[in-house]
Amino acid sequence: MEVFNLPDNVQKNQAGHLQIGGVDSIELAQKYGTPVIAYDTSVIKQEIAAFKKTFLNAGIKHRIVYASKAFSSLAMYRLLSEDDVGCDVVSGGELYAALKGGMDPEMIEFHGNNKTPAELEYAVQENIGCIVVDNFYEIELLDEICSAQNKKVSVVLRVAPGIEAETHKYISTGQSNSKFGFDLDSGQAKKALTMLLDADNLEVLGVHCHIGSQIFAVAGFEMAAVKMVQLLKQWKDEFNFDAQVLNLGGGFGIKYNEDDHPLGPAQFVKTIVQTVQAEAQKNDLMLPEIWIEPGRSLVGEAATTLYTTGSTKKVPGICNFIAVDGGMGDNIRPALYGAKYTAFLAAAPNARTTQKATIVGKYCESGDVLVADQDLPEVHPEDILAIPSTGAYGYSMASNYNRNGRPAVVFCENGHSQLVLKRETYADMLHLEVE
Ligand SMILES: *Cc1c(COP(=O)(O)O)cnc(C)c1O
Repeated sequence: MEVFNLPDNVQKNQAGHLQIGGVDSIELAQKYGTPVIAYDTSVIKQEIAAFKKTFLNAGIKHRIVYASKAFSSLAMYRLLSEDDVGCDVVSGGELYAALKGGMDPEMIEFHGNNKTPAELEYAVQENIGCIVVDNFYEIELLDEICSAQNKKVSVVLRVAPGIEAETHKYISTGQSNSKFGFDLDSGQAKKALTMLLDADNLEVLGVHCHIGSQIFAVAGFEMAAVKMVQLLKQWKDEFNFDAQVLNLGGGFGIKYNEDDHPLGPAQFVKTIVQTVQAEAQKNDLMLPEIWIEPGRSLVGEAATTLYTTGSTKKVPGICNFIAVDGGMGDNIRPALYGAKYTAFLAAAPNARTTQKATIVGKYCESGDVLVADQDLPEVHPEDILAIPSTGAYGYSMASNYNRNGRPAVVFCENGHSQLVLKRETYADMLHLEVE
């Protein structure tokens, strides 16, 4: 059978073990226990640098706004702050964490289709950079809250541009059926702008759209950029509205498996910048600052989850199950939307494969599968299995199902590791109980 080619985001050390940020994965498992999610923070920094460099080379004013929902932790916010990257939040809880993590409030934007009055009050109180307004109710609510607090806030108007992008396809939907943002084609976006321009306490900074996630093709971004600049031209002509910010969202695809060939930050940004520049020039429009909101692409490939194997079950002629000490509680993506990963034996990542096996978790759901039908070497109980590219939407979607504690998270770089999120204990899981 085949010998694995290691993906380029997976490295081996001299002992032949998989390593993460220069730290031996077997040592990580011994030191922190399993399951553990280990980030190579140099990968996050490289991604940020690649985005920035492409903007800087083009001489474009820009902001990188990390989408918190991909992975939110105090250590992550500290890393972002040091690199001058902003973040979005989609709840009071994310805002609280971002502020605790030392994010400059000015660098925070608040997203969401149903921000509660309490959340908006909190955001206004903390003087965050901007609120991305999403619906008419929110505009009225926010204006009232600002008035009560005697404050003016900056807002960005979220538009549903009628373009949806999936991994390899993009579709122009005409009228958008997204729950997010003001629909463009039916005139709702224009109505929202007039409301915002009339609101006493709201300052319109610009416009926003986000067309999808895990996108590999640039065409959707090109199309969105053209549509958004044309919209700004219309609004310039009609309302003499000058947008300072054009936020084109996130969704840049990453490599989960050998079959994935993402373009990388530079290619996406280059296309976005060139399209906006060309379209602005054509329409004789002032070039706005360009913001992007990468989530997955900053953190996804940076982390590898380490598990310890336990029981195996061979059903002759049907399937080999290998069970690990985690599962859907630390990574629900395979169960939730069929996400595909590849597992490696941490001690011998490209050992010769001898079996097809399905890696399952320890949760009481048949759907608790991490990897289905993969070629693997012989696996014994107490081996360490590594699943790379688990840095996005893993921990942030983690649960305590079956009262399994959430895993520990470590940051690794230059051969050093540092615990950033403790493993959840039994006692932690009883914290909310009223005794
Ligand atoms: C989820 C989301 C992002 C980030 O998407 P990724 O696929 O993780 O890059 C950015 N902007 C908005 C508005 C989002 O909802």
